Amino acid sequence: MTHSLQHPSSQTSNAIANHMPDLRAMRHHLHRNPEIGLSEFKTSDFVAEQLVAMGYEVTRGLGKTGIVATLRNGTSNRGVGIRADMDALPIHEETGADYASINPGIMHACGHDGHTTMLLGAAKILAERRNFDGTVHLIFQPAEENFGGARMMIEDGLFERFPCDAVFGLHNEPSLPFGQFVLRDGPIMAAVDECKITVNGYGGHGAEPQFASDPIVAGASIIMALQTVVSRNIHPLMPTVVTVGAFHAGVASNVIPETAEMLLTIRSFDPEARDELEKRIRMVAEGQAASYGMGVTLDYERGYNATINHKAETDYIANLARRFAGAENVSEMPHPSMGSEDFAYYLEKRPGAFFFLGTQRTENDPPLHHPKYDFNDDILPIGAAFWVELAEDYLKA
Ligand SMILES: [Zn+2]
Ligand SMILES: [Zn+2]
Repeated sequence: MTHSLQHPSSQTSNAIANHMPDLRAMRHHLHRNPEIGLSEFKTSDFVAEQLVAMGYEVTRGLGKTGIVATLRNGTSNRGVGIRADMDALPIHEETGADYASINPGIMHACGHDGHTTMLLGAAKILAERRNFDGTVHLIFQPAEENFGGARMMIEDGLFERFPCDAVFGLHNEPSLPFGQFVLRDGPIMAAVDECKITVNGYGGHGAEPQFASDPIVAGASIIMALQTVVSRNIHPLMPTVVTVGAFHAGVASNVIPETAEMLLTIRSFDPEARDELEKRIRMVAEGQAASYGMGVTLDYERGYNATINHKAETDYIANLARRFAGAENVSEMPHPSMGSEDFAYYLEKRPGAFFFLGTQRTENDPPLHHPKYDFNDDILPIGAAFWVELAEDYLKA
């Protein structure tokens, strides 16, 4: 299947198309050398070298391996930030690509190699044309998948040192039609929290349960009772999820173990619902365990906040995308995603919008985070051209 998007600015498209072999090679280089969050040393060197060669003022070390590349033109004091993430995942790659990961157990399975490449492609054109009035800050952030690189860069003074009137970011999405821009005003991605529950029992012989405190039975009971938290404690129109993704206990049929362990992921949008979820999960776990004469140890960790788009900037992106790709290639998300993104933190500090760009090849593309997922290179010139359009339009002379 081939796809064509009509670009109103054929100049941008042509400029990008001329760089397509470079973009593909760059993406494959990044894909071959993936690095886990906060260890993006080689990636960061590679990105910084390119940007320095293009003439950007390159600042390194925000959020450890993060980079801000700044380009000024004209006299306006307006600034815009565009973000790409650089980190990979602890997944063993199974794509069989000739540019597959050479780092065992680490893989670019979320397409951050593609995000980084598209922004580098845009950087090149922006620097060549200098067709804007103001300052472009290109933000290459670490650790989107694990440690919240966005928050770390902000804590290192990102927006004080590099003032942005607005900040924008995108994520590729293999389940969405190729070239489709998909976004929504307000909540777009959920807050994520994690919880580890350990049931503290008392081990013994499987044939003599009366002398033991069986943490497996208590754990099973906790898991069933947790299903009532969303259904009975949260407003029915308030999107929330409680998933027990892991349950570990015991090793043998005739041994009652000492402990049982559960790992939960908890998703929400509303801050009050988020608090209520934590409160009820604690009560349910402690109460269920107590009814069996046991206690629990609960390790509850707040993760990323919900990603909430700003109205004016969301409308701006939707309009720009309609001009760029045609109205038929722009759609509004009917529901927010229950996935999470640390782009949330930029939007808490500055107006902006986060959106999805469809990269589907076939109906059966492996999803993000799958060992056979591979970023679709065909979208590289489109994503790069869109970032150029955005910077040049936002900072129109
Ligand atoms: Zn991911
Ligand atoms: Zn991602």
